Amino acid sequence: MARVAIVTGAARGIGAATARRLAADGMSVAVLDLTEADAKPVADDIGGIAVGADVSDTDQVAAAVARVADELGPPTVLVNNAGVTRDNLLFKMTDTDWDTVLGVHLRGAFLMSRAVQGHMVGEKWGRIVNLSSTSALGNRGQANYAAAKAGMQGFTKTLAIELGRFGVTVNAIAPGFIATDMTKATAARIGEDWDGYVAKRAAAIPVARAGEPDDIANAVAFFVGEAAGFVSGQVLYVAGGPKG
Ligand code: NAP
Repeated sequence: MARVAIVTGAARGIGAATARRLAADGMSVAVLDLTEADAKPVADDIGGIAVGADVSDTDQVAAAVARVADELGPPTVLVNNAGVTRDNLLFKMTDTDWDTVLGVHLRGAFLMSRAVQGHMVGEKWGRIVNLSSTSALGNRGQANYAAAKAGMQGFTKTLAIELGRFGVTVNAIAPGFIATDMTKATAARIGEDWDGYVAKRAAAIPVARAGEPDDIANAVAFFVGEAAGFVSGQVLYVAGGPKG
């Protein structure tokens, strides 16, 4: 039986590349995003199912995980990838900017992990991968996002300790600069032309290029693979260098 994976925020960007990669590696994949319609093109492409849910909503998460278990079997791979940014300097950051970002990243990862862990424990096997970021180390204008992404690392290490005895590993990937709609929105917000922004960012990266979604999907594929069963509680910076 193929392993069943849920990838959140998988309609585009890093999540879509990850869903495609896990399907290519032989998994049955649930492509989860805010709406089923958003998730459908990727799901149709890879022979998976499209699931609409807001990861920060307890009831929607419960319904989504139940549907995946019903239609594909017990989900034993979870990639907590869904994300948003609401960048602003601290004095301009609103309560909503803070709550939205912490809600999607941290509360979302918590709700999804809690909802799937029973399936993983039942199968005595599981893999959780959480998307952190080099911003966890601090990034101007991202107090909310940096706090969420640093929080993902503590969350990861704690789940690794709690779930290890059930055959479940939990790891985090901290990407540096990856070319996606999220970083396109950042370039637009600060008024920079995309090509110029990519060139500027790439110039500061030791491997001298921007990251692509597949760079992250490759790292996810390692963590969720059968061979990575003794790797848990780790944070892998995938940033083309030590700082991204
Ligand atoms: P992206 O292109 O903006 O894709 C994120 C996806 O998550 C979108 O499809 C989005 O849907 C979905 N989403 C947002 N809120 C959601 C919610 N509440 N429930 C379910 N889905 C939701 O972002 P990305 O660049 O691929 O980033 C993916 C992950 O990597 C994020 O966690 C991000 O923080 C992290 N990361 C990215 C970079 C980078 O350079 N790109 C660097 C470090 C870390 P909508 O389109 O409807 O909003």
